[in-house]
Amino acid sequence: MIKKTKIIPVFIPHIGCPNECYFCNQKKITGHKSGIDFNAIEKEIQTCYSSMNSNYEIEIAFFGGSFTAIDVSIQLKLLKIAYEYKAHNKINRIRISTRPDAIDDVVLQRLKEYKVDIIEIGVQSMNDEVLTAINRGHTAQDVINASHLIKAYQFMLGHQIMPGLYGSSPSKDIETAKASIALKPNIVRIYPTLIIKDTKLEDLFNEGKYYPLSLKASIELISIIYALYEINEVKVIRVGLQPTDNIRLEGDVLGGPFHPSYRQLIMTHIFSRAIVNLLKKKQLKNIHIKSSRSNINYIVGLNGTGKKYIKQELSIERLSFSEDDNSEGVIVICDDKSSIFINRHEIFEIFYNLRENLDVFKRNSY
Ligand code: SF4
Repeated sequence: MIKKTKIIPVFIPHIGCPNECYFCNQKKITGHKSGIDFNAIEKEIQTCYSSMNSNYEIEIAFFGGSFTAIDVSIQLKLLKIAYEYKAHNKINRIRISTRPDAIDDVVLQRLKEYKVDIIEIGVQSMNDEVLTAINRGHTAQDVINASHLIKAYQFMLGHQIMPGLYGSSPSKDIETAKASIALKPNIVRIYPTLIIKDTKLEDLFNEGKYYPLSLKASIELISIIYALYEINEVKVIRVGLQPTDNIRLEGDVLGGPFHPSYRQLIMTHIFSRAIVNLLKKKQLKNIHIKSSRSNINYIVGLNGTGKKYIKQELSIERLSFSEDDNSEGVIVICDDKSSIFINRHEIFEIFYNLRENLDVFKRNSY
């Protein structure tokens, strides 16, 4: 049986970052405002580790900031803490996240020495005009170089992209996803842009120069991008920022498509549209759908929105569901006479190719 992973998160504040990207207030995102307290980090890791059991794979992950742009002596102290756990077989993996222009041979050799496994880089956009507009301080070529080098050193590669940035558009964001996929990341995080308090984006918003994606427009766009990664077998490990004490609409998020169940909204959009498309010519009246609990949750949706959509679009009289956790992700759609079997990969393919998405592909502005 494949074990699930439990993460021991270590939040690294803004120190060492050479930039002020327009969307970022890293101190707020990590929830930490001061410098690094190594003793506190060691204690936090120990406490977290003690609460975990052997049913899980365990990973120490350094989040926030730009790990490899930090002063090397600080990097080494942090890496040593994690390395001790890995060297004693207490954890399975070490993960860091950083900027693409803070990757070179020396950096990667150091990370190899300390047994780091996963390197996530902040791609944000693969369009140089967008990268300049948000003061990112690196180019798309830096992402290409860093991705090739990380793979050459046989680390697991992660990309983080930010659709909806200042200066971008749906078509540029879809092109970014395609360019990212061409670099063969193993995993991706998709963060639709939010306006965080005390950032340049807040000023641009107040000056009427920047409008974030609405929740509805973001769901249409991010669903396409999500499906694109899934079809190309890149695992989407996160979509939307995780709610914390600060990251919520009444907290530091001033605008943009924030929702505490963002992934669920995306998945319901994808699953319900794909199922309607699959069944629309069949004129069915009674349908029963059987699949794993997670697939059924995605199809039914928050407050039954997916179920309502399917019933309405197909004019169905009766739509029922049952959970089958031995289904291995297959969705069985039955009417009185026959059954259709469809897997997740096919759902994403059907959704990605929907004609209604063509309009989003062509949009040149938000
Ligand atoms: S490089 Fe990363 S940490 Fe630095 S300002 Fe940009 S997003 Fe924030």
